[in-house]
Amino acid sequence: MPENSEQISQIKANLNQVLENLRMLEEQYQRPANSVQLLAVSKTKPIEDICTAYACGQHHFGESYVQEALEKIKKLKIEQSNIKMSKLYWHFIGPIQKNKTRAITENFQWVHSVERLVIAQRLNDQRPSSLPPLQVCIQVNIDNEASKAGVISEDIQSLAEYLSKLKHIKLRGLMAIPKASSDIHQQRKSFANLREQLEHLNQSGFELDTLSMGMSGDLEAAIAEGATIVRVGTAIFGKRPPKT
Ligand SMILES: *Cc1c(COP(=O)(O)O)cnc(C)c1O
Repeated sequence: MPENSEQISQIKANLNQVLENLRMLEEQYQRPANSVQLLAVSKTKPIEDICTAYACGQHHFGESYVQEALEKIKKLKIEQSNIKMSKLYWHFIGPIQKNKTRAITENFQWVHSVERLVIAQRLNDQRPSSLPPLQVCIQVNIDNEASKAGVISEDIQSLAEYLSKLKHIKLRGLMAIPKASSDIHQQRKSFANLREQLEHLNQSGFELDTLSMGMSGDLEAAIAEGATIVRVGTAIFGKRPPKT
């Protein structure tokens, strides 16, 4: 079903606004131009929205639910083979169940939410050898919240060491979803903590270049503290229906 024109122009306007904002914040916080990459989080949103964003030049998309993502990826593969959408990159950013690792590693280029050794091992072992290594981030529970996914700071190093030995996985960096807060100082504290964890790894010999942090509500704090990928859904595609 073709997207109605109101929805198309809304997404276009939102996307341009977010990109403009990113470039402005890079300058404001003395980050190199274009050093912050935009990941458009399209979970719960229809394929038409993805096509609209793609037509505006957005090539990286984030999904959180495996089944939903697979349906979209499959449908869009047909478009890809038509060359209309040949540069489409999928990032998995949601919780990973053991029985979903094959589907994820066969269909995604990136996974931001690795937090367990067994999951990493399976993503590695099941990665098709025809594909380049899966690009991964370790998800960190940066504010030590009981309800949140991710490893605690003390466990980052050992998981990173394990991951760096896997041949079909390329460890790129760290990801976090900080404690919800509307206070930019609190937000920056959490993000600074993640940045320090990455610096710590690099001081001990890793060469990691990715900080996946910042969403619609805390972009400024994330960019101020060194985000290299921001994961933005609502500000591009509008509100999502409440989770059931
Ligand atoms: C949904 C989601 C986002 C996007 O959040 P918005 O507030 O809509 O920008 C980012 N990261 C993760 C891990 C998500 O699940």
